[in-house]
Amino acid sequence: MRYYDNVVELVGNTPLVRLRNVTDGISATVLAKVEYLNPGGSVKDRIALRMVEEAEKAGLLKPGGTIVEPTSGNTGVGLALVAQLRGYKCVFVCPDKVSEDKQNVLRAYGAEVVVCPTAVAPEDPRSYYNVSDRLAREIPGAWKPDQYANPANPRSHYETTGPEVWEQTDGRVTHFVAGVGTGGTISGVGRYLKEVSGGAVRIVGADPEGSVYSGGTGRPYLVEGVGEDFWPTTYDRDICDEIVEVSDKESFELTRRLAREEGLLVGGSCGMAVAAALKVARQAGPDDVVVVLLPDGGRGYLSKIFNDGWMARYGFLRTAAELPTVADVL
Ligand code: PMP
Repeated sequence: MRYYDNVVELVGNTPLVRLRNVTDGISATVLAKVEYLNPGGSVKDRIALRMVEEAEKAGLLKPGGTIVEPTSGNTGVGLALVAQLRGYKCVFVCPDKVSEDKQNVLRAYGAEVVVCPTAVAPEDPRSYYNVSDRLAREIPGAWKPDQYANPANPRSHYETTGPEVWEQTDGRVTHFVAGVGTGGTISGVGRYLKEVSGGAVRIVGADPEGSVYSGGTGRPYLVEGVGEDFWPTTYDRDICDEIVEVSDKESFELTRRLAREEGLLVGGSCGMAVAAALKVARQAGPDDVVVVLLPDGGRGYLSKIFNDGWMARYGFLRTAAELPTVADVL
């Protein structure tokens, strides 16, 4: 019999798939690392597992303990999966702007979700930063992973994602492209690939227009999970050779093309990363191998990026009224 003992054993070892259609006119090989095939549906399963393992080793998380983290999405799912297997409770704190569907995903995995008002300042005791700090202090046996400051976040990518990319390409990768949120992915994978290639692999961060990594001030943008308005310690400033700035419009257009033309129903930060990868690949030659990491799947974005009305409302698409319909044609 061939089976895995539990779902956590399914974390990592995600495949590379060649992008064949959105790469029209490009001679380099462009390969996507498909992280939605992790059991929790995103790249964040990797960091969740490593952060929990290291907290156990350090004695910060003991049997029966509680994981408390301000998260509304992928990191929460990863932590909930690992917590279930190892018998921990999870309390996730999120702002009330987070959709009920997203909150319910976390509840479905058995986590408790505490919802805080969005319309208060970060220093307000009701803000989700302060509520999560207070819960982590006051719940006995609580531990806060803090993905923005936890060295196990980039380390998980240095130890797993980076070696996978190198081995899967037989050491032929010439460029690695990923979106930057906490910076864990780009810093960990980038450091590994630079070390193993003697500095030959070019590391390219993709960043939403307005975020600090590409020189912005934290001006709002709509793509989720990437870009910041501060510099987290999980981001190593010495790793990226280049940061490519991508607009929301470009990110979302490419996200939709990935579903229609490549059969990859993925999230908005994937479209952003691919937009950056294609810019890089256009300057590259036929022997170049550009690997781009796709962090999560598209099901969590059906009512936004994949909704024509939402796209049109933000000016990312002609309005539905302007588009010909089947009824017009018949
Ligand atoms: N895309 C999505 C959807 C994410 O949730 C994240 C993590 N915040 C990223 C990209 C960026 O990854 P990292 O935090 O490793 O920089």
